[in-house]
Amino acid sequence: MNAAACKWIEPWHSDWARMEYDYVVIGAGLFGASFARRMTDAGKRCLVIERRSHIAGNTYTQQTAGIDVHMYGAHVFHTSNERVWEFVNRFASFYPYQHTVLANYRGERYNLPFNMNTFHQMWGVETAEQAREKIAAQQIFPLEQEPRNLEEQAIRLVGTELYEKLIHGYTQKQWGRSCIELPAFIIRRLPVRFTYDNRYFNDRYQGVPTEGYTSLVSRMLNGIDIQLNTDYLANRQSVRALAKKVVFTGPIDAFFDYALGHLAYRSLRFETELMDETDHQGCAVVNYTDAEVPYTRMIEHKHFLGGSQPQTVITREFAMEWTPGEEPFYPVNDEQNQALLARYRALAASEHNVLFGGRLGEYRYYDMDAVILSALEAADREEGQ
Ligand code: UDP
Repeated sequence: MNAAACKWIEPWHSDWARMEYDYVVIGAGLFGASFARRMTDAGKRCLVIERRSHIAGNTYTQQTAGIDVHMYGAHVFHTSNERVWEFVNRFASFYPYQHTVLANYRGERYNLPFNMNTFHQMWGVETAEQAREKIAAQQIFPLEQEPRNLEEQAIRLVGTELYEKLIHGYTQKQWGRSCIELPAFIIRRLPVRFTYDNRYFNDRYQGVPTEGYTSLVSRMLNGIDIQLNTDYLANRQSVRALAKKVVFTGPIDAFFDYALGHLAYRSLRFETELMDETDHQGCAVVNYTDAEVPYTRMIEHKHFLGGSQPQTVITREFAMEWTPGEEPFYPVNDEQNQALLARYRALAASEHNVLFGGRLGEYRYYDMDAVILSALEAADREEGQ
């Protein structure tokens, strides 16, 4: 990792208690690092406290055999926001990787996201009109009513057959819940196109940092005081005394000691292998969409940067319910958790001098660019005060 740029602080440095910061930022992921950078550029003093032994949160990358390994799952940067794109380009150059996904359903192969290639593979259709007819013939819920859950939304978009093969099993593995318990918006993350376009994202800008996300975040944090291996929640009083304001990017329910109960999170487990072959699966991500294969996807990391190393690194990704001690990855946006979140947000609103941000602090299924934008906008608001 490019550690040189960061200004590491020894744990409980003797000078530390005497330092005065405007902000103590809890978490060195994309929200924390973007906020700290933006406020430091505006002349404020920030200290970043990170529980883990590394920066970059779940975007953390580490090299194995010359290959940048996405240690917490595949991260492909994409945005249509000019401000965010300009901001990240201050800290990294981007390899122009265009994400596409191959789905494997019991050995049958389909392109994702849903497009004319997928429809052709499924039904042999060749025109958009034929594909639309197939989908229309597979509608089983009343069309005049808004889809009430992920299953209804998915069938509305692609019909029952593609739902059964590419969505049903994968979603149950990913979320550990039935598709009728999950909100419709989760499946709307995926484009559905009636053209032969396999790109996973519609955004104008897309890529993967050529030197990895760890280097990107390290450069963002250039000159900013950081302390790793420090759990804010176990040291609240002393940490809060250091700064006028706290920016908390950990789980919102943990901040309140789970006073109202636990919010649910999905966690991931990874099995990573270094292989003595130049290419294992021919692309970066293959989704295993049936219910029988226990993992959701297999990542071959070198493809994100078009690598030509003699070896390759693959990761199998398994989804599981979060339990204390694991890393939380995804908020579970079902009704029960949304209701609990509303109660935690009410508590958060009455916390003076604490800002909550990021996927865990806001309990939102944010993409990377949205996290950065919300950090920059939170900083704008702070500056306006
Ligand atoms: N999804 C699916 N089959 C796939 C890929 C995605 O059913 O092969 C659904 C699934 O419910 C997933 C959602 O679409 O949670 C969003 O997928 P995305 O690739 O955006 O998930 P992420 O990369 O954030 O895990």
